[in-house]
Amino acid sequence: MTTPDELRTEIETFFADVLPDALDGVTGSVARAKAWRSALFDAGLAGLDYPVELGGRGLDREHMAVWRETTRGRIPREDTIFGLGVGMAVPTIRDHGTEALAERFVRPGLRGEEIWCQMYSEPGAGSDLAGLTTRAIRDGDEWIVTGQKVWTSNAHHADLAVLLARTDWDAPKHAGISMFVLPMDQPGVDVRPLVMMTGEAEFNEIFLDEARIPADWVIGEVNGGWSMAVALLAHERRQTGVNSMQGDTSSRSRAGRAPMPFGFVRDQAERHGRLDDPVIRQDLARLHSGERIVSWLGARGAHPSLGKLWRTRQGRLAAEVAMAVTFSQSLAWSVDPDDEGSLDDDHVAFQFLNGRGMSLGGGTDEIQRNTLGERVLGLPREPGPGRNTPFNELPRN
Ligand SMILES: Cc1cc2nc3c(=O)[nH]c(=O)nc-3n(C[C@H](O)[C@H](O)[C@H](O)COP(=O)(O)OP(=O)(O)OC[C@H]3O[C@@H](n4cnc5c(N)ncnc54)[C@H](O)[C@@H]3O)c2cc1C
Repeated sequence: MTTPDELRTEIETFFADVLPDALDGVTGSVARAKAWRSALFDAGLAGLDYPVELGGRGLDREHMAVWRETTRGRIPREDTIFGLGVGMAVPTIRDHGTEALAERFVRPGLRGEEIWCQMYSEPGAGSDLAGLTTRAIRDGDEWIVTGQKVWTSNAHHADLAVLLARTDWDAPKHAGISMFVLPMDQPGVDVRPLVMMTGEAEFNEIFLDEARIPADWVIGEVNGGWSMAVALLAHERRQTGVNSMQGDTSSRSRAGRAPMPFGFVRDQAERHGRLDDPVIRQDLARLHSGERIVSWLGARGAHPSLGKLWRTRQGRLAAEVAMAVTFSQSLAWSVDPDDEGSLDDDHVAFQFLNGRGMSLGGGTDEIQRNTLGERVLGLPREPGPGRNTPFNELPRN
């Protein structure tokens, strides 16, 4: 088996010799993301802890630690487009899907050939996800799906979706849901972008009108989708709570919900002559401590909700401190591509607006605290009407 030191050398060689060639002349964020992933997979580095027969290397935790350490700050930010696929859907299929599903989706997922999105939230079901009303009905060799989803990040780029839909209306609300893989490119799937206050349209609303899914593209058991949803969400909270502190820290990168790195905010304080300001110095110290804490929480394998809460807090603080040091440039700026400073100001303004969403996506702060209270501290469950009542009989809007 490859030793951790040999792996380190492989990774260094990849970043020094292979990746620059793979990205040479490739433009556009999706094309660059795909070029990076395919180069990574072809170099044998895309699924280190995946079984060899699924395109992985079958390596262990020690090797994963080498990966995290060696790649910190070097993963192109464009890779965030694979956050849902590589980070969540693919491991869920690896762990809970049938052999046929794993065979079909893991390898192309790891290689970045297919982009995924997550169709969980609905206009009437966000925090109360188990209240979802999109329905899937079995029809011969297919499932037919009708309903509406919302806040679906990257759906406009996606080839596939992890979809939650209700398959049994007579069962209690958590017990009648199934998880599917939905092919996005079909007449019954209408994706409409939603423009955010940043001016960008990261997410979408999706209208499903008799969309079709092959009968065996169910992840886990039919009506067992709630436990699959929870398994996938744990990957999500772990990923956004911890890995978001990695990644390319270039100031111009606009993608992602990762907090601005301490180093970037400190540089802005220096650029604007605020490094001697005692209040700013105090804020920078808090920012630095927070960044270390998020990274240590990851190393300790703390509960994913803890990581997510810290990441959200760090993101807000970083945006607020950056805003304070760049004020007023970050409120009224004009972007000149040749002026590094104006791009930084633009980035700060973007992050300040974008960062608000951090506490919502992947489950709100309040929901993370409920989870920690109930699952970690053992507090009594939140009272909820009718956990055992058939969904059909529950009052709904
Ligand atoms: C940037 C971003 C990206 C997203 N991407 C996706 C995606 O790709 N796919 C997807 O399916 N969804 C996505 N979402 C949706 C996200 O999961 C939901 O916004 C989130 O779960 C909250 O649901 P909601 O918006 O319906 O708010 P609601 O559930 O209506 O909550 C409103 C408020 O009430 C509070 N609240 C609700 N219930 C409780 C409770 N029991 N105890 C205490 N407080 C409570 C909440 O904390 C919140 O403050 C995304 C959201 C954002 C912001």
